[in-house]
Amino acid sequence: MRFIDAAEVRARLTYPLCIPIVRNAMIAFSRGETRQLLRSIIPLGAGKIFGIMPGALGGEALFGAKLVSIFHDNVLKGGPSHQGVVVLFDGKTGAPVCIVDGGEITAIRTAAASAVATDALARPDATRLAILGSGVQALAHARAIAEVRALSHITVWARASDKAARLAETIGAELAVATVAAPSVEAAVSDAQIVCTVTGAAEPILLSQWIKPGTHLNVVGSSVAGPAEIDEALVARARFIADSREGVLAQGGEFLRAKQTGLVDDAHVVGEIGEVLAGTLEGRQSPDQVTIYKSLGHVVQDLAAAGALYATAVEP
Ligand code: NDP
Repeated sequence: MRFIDAAEVRARLTYPLCIPIVRNAMIAFSRGETRQLLRSIIPLGAGKIFGIMPGALGGEALFGAKLVSIFHDNVLKGGPSHQGVVVLFDGKTGAPVCIVDGGEITAIRTAAASAVATDALARPDATRLAILGSGVQALAHARAIAEVRALSHITVWARASDKAARLAETIGAELAVATVAAPSVEAAVSDAQIVCTVTGAAEPILLSQWIKPGTHLNVVGSSVAGPAEIDEALVARARFIADSREGVLAQGGEFLRAKQTGLVDDAHVVGEIGEVLAGTLEGRQSPDQVTIYKSLGHVVQDLAAAGALYATAVEP
């Protein structure tokens, strides 16, 4: 069985490679060509969960699962919060064929999915990006969004200002785009046309009143029912598109809060990004519309990305 470690994933799963893979996977998912179960989560104590995400890419294509632990305190010790593996099985023989580092796959495929959504939903002339958060996803999102829009300016906000400053320096140097750390969420988003929320915040840090008409948001940080990064008013105001409609209706923290307060009902989740990409659902409807892509993360993204690495792997 082939093993693809984190370093190999980092070296080979580039954004130009991963973005179209995730795009095609989300189209196949929304067409009903893939098979998957709703993600199961086993709580392991405060700040610790184990996620089990099984799926099949359809027909005789690969099937398998991502097994991922999320231990938030690891970050305090300098480690990653997300660790795991993606296990691939051959769809013709049923044999397990490959295990891929799941932390790296998660980092890259999540940002690639947000880039796909940004390309589909953000204004074509959007050049100013704001990133809320300073962890693995924050840097990954800067890299990925830069692949789909000609960014002129990036602002970064994090609750630890030193981390925001360090990240701004890293992004600015790597992408050669003017990047600054903002002192508040409001300041970070005040001029932004694309906003990515990639924090572990349990309560909303981003309020509707700070968001300008025409902004596109990728709301990524909360991937279970409960935590929410944006307020209910922002959910209600936006054209709200899910990675998986079934997933967001069951586990979309921000949507569920807005529904609970009576501001929206299930019809507010107008559909899935895969439908927009396939041309069966209208994306942005006007230049001033606020659009939201709600990302919970999907196993077809993991399987498709891992499968592409496996298909082109050279024997060690
Ligand atoms: P990291 O642990 O690397 O970074 C988490 C970031 O969130 C840090 O900047 C942290 O700040 C910040 N943060 C935590 N709590 C708060 C808070 N209360 N208010 C403001 N900021 C806060 O995680 P990742 O970058 O890998 O992931 C970011 C988020 O996205 C996580 O919640 C993760 O579960 C989620 N995620 C979602 C995926 C999806 O597919 N939708 C896939 C992968 C991750 P500090 O450094 O100060 O602690």
